[in-house]
Amino acid sequence: MAAEVRPRLTVLSGPSGVGKSTVVAHMRKVHPEVWLSVSATTRKPRPGEKHGVHYFFVTDDEFDKLIANGELLEWAEFAGNRYGTPRGAVLDRLDSGEPVLLEIDLQGARQVKDSMPESQLVFLAPPSWEELVRRLTGRGTESPEVIERRLSAAKVELAAESEFDTTLVNTSVEDVARELLTLMLLTSGE
Ligand code: ADP
Ligand code: 5GP
Repeated sequence: MAAEVRPRLTVLSGPSGVGKSTVVAHMRKVHPEVWLSVSATTRKPRPGEKHGVHYFFVTDDEFDKLIANGELLEWAEFAGNRYGTPRGAVLDRLDSGEPVLLEIDLQGARQVKDSMPESQLVFLAPPSWEELVRRLTGRGTESPEVIERRLSAAKVELAAESEFDTTLVNTSVEDVARELLTLMLLTSGE
């Protein structure tokens, strides 16, 4: 008899501007049943971002409390703001047997791999460095200074690709969203 396959946590990471949010949004449009963890962040909302949907937007003090109370599965500082994954919601979903997706940075992905080695790490790569710069600049949501910080973080993130279990190249949003979903379902035994 085949052993029961436990659902695994899937972590999607990749440099800022590569298209992580776009891919995840597309996947959830086609498959609204996929559950994505909503992170807490001290960053200010971008136009159109909603509290509780895209992020829980919190103050520095509130973020300190989340850390102190052990409420974050992982957290990291990225380009001047802090981001963290609420622990309880993720563990509840895994307990109920649902595939779980986290969209987090490299430092967070490493922490998850350490604390939950059975998790699957997926790296979203740009077709080229020039295209990454084009996407990050073209999004038009960050100042030139913030773009510079994110591009220097991107160099570090791109160098860590080999730490991931799988790489998907974001040429076509539709293709990558489909491939990501396949990976998530494979690991949950469906
Ligand atoms: P991230 O969440 O990784 O920071 P975003 O999802 O915000 O990145 O995408 C950054 C920019 O790149 C957005 O303007 C988005 O529309 C664009 N983009 C995302 N995926 C693609 C793609 N496959 N081809 C062209 N542009 C893309
Ligand atoms: P953005 O400000 O563009 O929404 O996100 C910046 C970076 O923070 C992205 O690489 C994103 O994946 C990452 N991020 C978002 N939420 C979390 C989180 O909960 N934990 C960690 N470690 N990184 C996160």
